[in-house]
Amino acid sequence: MNEVITNNYDQEHMAIDLVASDKSDTNIIAMEDGTVKTVINNVKGTNHKSKGTATYGNYVEIKHTDGKTSLYAHMKYGSIQVHEGQKINKGDIIGTIGETGNAYGKHLHLEVRNANNVKENPLNSLNNPPKQVEITPNNKTTQTKQSTSTIKKVTNTTNTYLKASNYHYGSIVDALKSIGENSSYSYRKKLAENNGITGYHGSYSQNIKLLNLLKSGKLKKV
Ligand SMILES: [Zn+2]
Repeated sequence: MNEVITNNYDQEHMAIDLVASDKSDTNIIAMEDGTVKTVINNVKGTNHKSKGTATYGNYVEIKHTDGKTSLYAHMKYGSIQVHEGQKINKGDIIGTIGETGNAYGKHLHLEVRNANNVKENPLNSLNNPPKQVEITPNNKTTQTKQSTSTIKKVTNTTNTYLKASNYHYGSIVDALKSIGENSSYSYRKKLAENNGITGYHGSYSQNIKLLNLLKSGKLKKV
């Protein structure tokens, strides 16, 4: 699927969330060869008060030959095409993206555990890591807004970086000027949003963050 990441792996969300970039009912495929360990397929809708594995809604867990397991959560009711004990090849369709369990909007919540059953970043196991999109707080207010923004942001993900390694002073405005870039407030606000600095209002610490990214050549161009 042509997927994008809407929620990254971190200590509070030890998984990645993926959506199809066109928001379609996309099939989910197995990450690697393995054997189906768990299938839960009786969840008909969302439950935002659910706890534990019930938060996953309908899900499939696959034990891989290298000892890792992958878990695909929130799948659509009636879409799961595999059963426990079934041998699976990489790329086999296991079901369809859905919104069951504790999910807001259709997405795949993908978790990977290593051979010691410790969660790890699924991106380490994917050959072609999907593009990442930044969801800014404004976009979280409504699902529609979020989806529109997701699509828009994807087309913006060109991953061209700005660099001002020869600039040695403390002003983001001057640093941008030194490389012939727009240094206006509105452009810096866009740069901030595009680089994960939310709620940009030109504060000292936000400007320093922008400047440090720019000096190290890691400031994503808008
Ligand atoms: Zn998730």
